[in-house]
Amino acid sequence: CSGGGLLVYSDSNPLKRTLTADGQETKKKKVVVLGSGWGGYSFLSYLNNPNYDVQVVSPRNFFLFTPLLPSVTNGTVEARSIVEPIRGLMRKKGFEYTEAECVKIDASNKKILCRSKDGASKDAKEFDMDYDILVVAVGAKPNTFNTPGVEENAHFLKEAEDALKIRQTVINSFERASLPDLTEEERKKILHFVVVGGGPTGVEFSAELHDFLVEDVAKIYPKVQEFTRITLLEAGDHILNMFDKRITAFAEEKFQRDGIDLKTKNMVVGVTADEISTKEIATGRIVSEPYGMVVWSTGIGIRPVIKEFMHQIGQGQRRVLATDEWLRVEGCDSVYALGDTATINQRRVMEDIAAIFSKADKGETGTLNKKEFKTVVKDICQRYPQVELYLKKKKLRNIANLLKSANGDDTEVNIETFKQALSEVDTQMKNLPATAQVASQQGKYLAKCFNKMEKCEKKPEGPLRFRGEGRHRFQPFRYRHFGSFAPLGGEQTAAELPGDWVSIGHSSQWLWYSVYASKLVSWRTRSLVVSDWVRRFIFGRDSSS
Ligand code: FAD
Ligand code: MG
Ligand code: MG
Ligand code: MG
Ligand code: MG
Repeated sequence: CSGGGLLVYSDSNPLKRTLTADGQETKKKKVVVLGSGWGGYSFLSYLNNPNYDVQVVSPRNFFLFTPLLPSVTNGTVEARSIVEPIRGLMRKKGFEYTEAECVKIDASNKKILCRSKDGASKDAKEFDMDYDILVVAVGAKPNTFNTPGVEENAHFLKEAEDALKIRQTVINSFERASLPDLTEEERKKILHFVVVGGGPTGVEFSAELHDFLVEDVAKIYPKVQEFTRITLLEAGDHILNMFDKRITAFAEEKFQRDGIDLKTKNMVVGVTADEISTKEIATGRIVSEPYGMVVWSTGIGIRPVIKEFMHQIGQGQRRVLATDEWLRVEGCDSVYALGDTATINQRRVMEDIAAIFSKADKGETGTLNKKEFKTVVKDICQRYPQVELYLKKKKLRNIANLLKSANGDDTEVNIETFKQALSEVDTQMKNLPATAQVASQQGKYLAKCFNKMEKCEKKPEGPLRFRGEGRHRFQPFRYRHFGSFAPLGGEQTAAELPGDWVSIGHSSQWLWYSVYASKLVSWRTRSLVVSDWVRRFIFGRDSSS
């Protein structure tokens, strides 16, 4: 890197100053990072540029390994084991951390307003913080779709506290249902567990709860076991609808066999302290049932601070905060966003087609020769991921084959054939899912950009990168999908890996154990989780609350 990044001695705060290439002493750029989750933690772990003064703001002084959160609800894994304190990383990297929540972003003055964690209490402190560059990785919040009573009566499964509360509630329910002098109806109500949302989290939680009921409760609370019931509610036609159909079918059958009451095409319309009301979508009929505990897991929504920020920068009409492919927030300067809180606003090839063509056409001949064509193809695939997906779908090895089908053996390509060949690629555009996989890859990508920022900053990127020109330019973010898992309980997991590879059963459960053990961010958490698993195999789950 240029710039050197030497530290200077005689300043009262030497860590905040740096030397430039010509020996001038300047203030370091202040990078403020919001959030210590998948996106933020990954960004911070890979960030390695001594020219930045890094300040992290998050209400949570730890990173949470969310994929194992459902296992905390029944005590398979302890909450402590999937939490990595952030202070360790801060010390190692020389970053600073403030335990607070950002409550307002003021993009025009490059300032944020923060509030200490004890938010509502009278001891809460509010303070401003300046930034030169802001990295927003605040994640999302559970989405209730404004369904009445959910906020007050249902449990969410998003944070470590949520999982612990659920665990405590489940165990308390069994203790309460075991009290003398209860009617059968009362016991049934207390032990009716309702899960709302048939996505991966809702399904995994139902499976974990079911395992707990058959493997542990049967032994510990044999008298009340017959009164337990799990209901899984889903508004759509099927559960796990983002997975392969084979996985959905297997999961639905397994749940039916297990006695989980699976109700698809049912929408929750309200939750009171004692009853949950659902509407059958086909008939419009509303049914209310008594319950003991409701866990709400129907997807995510925008945090209020981001919503307000979007209004400020002219994104008020959008559903999610939009960035470009370099993760820069559209409509303001020096703000980046990643993870669940943002979406990449992917460009359409067809919108840029004339510009792509004329940039590629170096001699301005109105046609592209073979060499020009090859170069442009490489660049299109870089910037527009839909091109590769389209080729894959059409089973074509590369875009040259695609063009051959449009242009025959002619070696010169004119704009019309070029357009025609690419006319359908935009149909393959899709938003990236809100997953840890995406957030952590984005964090790593952004850190790598920041690590070579000095080289890149001087060379603004065009819509395309051309060989020889701007070698140090940032490449746009590209996501690599490594597959997804859906644990289904009873030591069985469904796995969907790249290349349409689907595997369901006990062998994938072992794959799941090993993948998640390897993804844990430190050897400390890894050894804790593995020993939790071993303990559970040998002694069963801990059932004290
Ligand atoms: P988060 O990880 O949620 O981090 C947000 C951070 O911002 C937190 O530290 C939070 O405290 C902080 N924050 C919040 N508000 C503010 C504020 N105002 N100011 C400053 N900081 C703030 N994904 C997978 O790929 N595989 C899985 O198996 C998987 N399983 C999951 C299981 C569960 C139960 C859940 C809830 C999620 C699961 N996910 C999984 C999804 C994954 O956890 C998210 O996609 C991922 O956490 C998104 O990362 P993020 O950095 O955007 O947000
Ligand atoms: Mg984060
Ligand atoms: Mg997280
Ligand atoms: Mg989140
Ligand atoms: Mg996102």
